[in-house]
Amino acid sequence: MLTSILDCAIDRMRPAALASLARNTPRAFTDWKKNAAFLNIIRYACKRSPFYKRKFAELGIDPGRIKSPSDLGDFYTTPQDISANAEEFLCRDPQIVFESSGTTGKNKRVYFGQDELDHIGRMNASGLLLGGITRKDRLVNAFDFEIWIPGMVTQKGVEKLGALTLVAGKIDPVEVYRRIPIYGFNVILGEPTWLIKLTEIAEKNGAYPLKLLIAGGEEMPEAAKPWMEKVWKGAGVRMVYASVESGGIMAFEPFACCDGYHIDENDFSVEIANPDKEGYGEVAFTTLNRLTMPLIRYKNRDISKIIEAPCACGLSLRKLARMRGRSDEMVITAAGNLYPLMFDNILKNIEEITSDWQIVFKLRGIKEIMEFNLEIKDASLKERVKDKVISSIKTLYPDMSRNALLGIYEMEFAYHSPGTVRSGRKLIHIVDKRHGR
Ligand SMILES: [Zn+2]
Repeated sequence: MLTSILDCAIDRMRPAALASLARNTPRAFTDWKKNAAFLNIIRYACKRSPFYKRKFAELGIDPGRIKSPSDLGDFYTTPQDISANAEEFLCRDPQIVFESSGTTGKNKRVYFGQDELDHIGRMNASGLLLGGITRKDRLVNAFDFEIWIPGMVTQKGVEKLGALTLVAGKIDPVEVYRRIPIYGFNVILGEPTWLIKLTEIAEKNGAYPLKLLIAGGEEMPEAAKPWMEKVWKGAGVRMVYASVESGGIMAFEPFACCDGYHIDENDFSVEIANPDKEGYGEVAFTTLNRLTMPLIRYKNRDISKIIEAPCACGLSLRKLARMRGRSDEMVITAAGNLYPLMFDNILKNIEEITSDWQIVFKLRGIKEIMEFNLEIKDASLKERVKDKVISSIKTLYPDMSRNALLGIYEMEFAYHSPGTVRSGRKLIHIVDKRHGR
């Protein structure tokens, strides 16, 4: 009862009040409210959604007896569940649908009500305010407006903020670059790779005084951020963590000192499924306030860990560490268990290559080959790049280096011209071709 009164109050709050709530709410109160909302959504979903009704019956789970997320044991939902049964998740009539970009073949469909989109907009606006953006700033929304979600939810956020915005969509970055001085834009929102292209244009033709570049939709290569901040003469580069399934922004990085994503604990209960010794495992989130298509303990394949320690920025919200990669991109190899982030660390300080790369694992006979596919800026620098990669592996991951020296696997290098390694919207960093895949 008390939590539903609180939710009604939150639903009526303006973004500025929401931002102040995120700044000042004690963690114990957030946890109490989060757990109550978690139990409510379980009971609600079991009553209304054919999928949850069936699943819980199959597993013998009595929603009335659940007291905390861990009482659900091994019950998780997965991208395959959504691909196969999207409409079975529905608890009420939907009004708007988005599709994922679908890296597994079949697109995932996620449904919302207009009221939910409105709520997402207000939360996004409060995140922008927390990050120091006001209605005096001038924004460009260069997120994609195709059948997936970022353009639309970003737009809802900037509308609630009330700042002047160019609704650009994912157009040629040159078009946005040309308009920056005309309108005096100082905040630009888009996918990391799109913002990198825009920054390349600025590096060549001169930068304008921007305040912030905000990226989301995929991880930013480690090396890109400091380079972008330098090109834009000190503008901040911030990341948000969002997906079609999370709807809006599930976690965000409002300040330079955060080193991780603060979780929106009003709308999401985030757990780490099967964590390793360091606490890293698959992110599993529950949507606490979505009534159209609630997702309960949805494992989204990203690998991260929850950071409990207080943040230097002063927000009490817990954080997710920078994604280590995706569970479907982790490979068990002769060089160890490898995640994309490890290769990002190896390659990030090598200035002769671009930030797009792909590692292919294959077999020659029974010998395992780790092939680095790198985009090189000048073909005469191949040997230098190879030496730098090998020495970086030696310093950062001695085991990986030792196994190569012992001949347990071999490293090979294939060089490509800039802009050619990426073939689709998302760059697949690790490709495993060893076992007929
Ligand atoms: Zn922080």
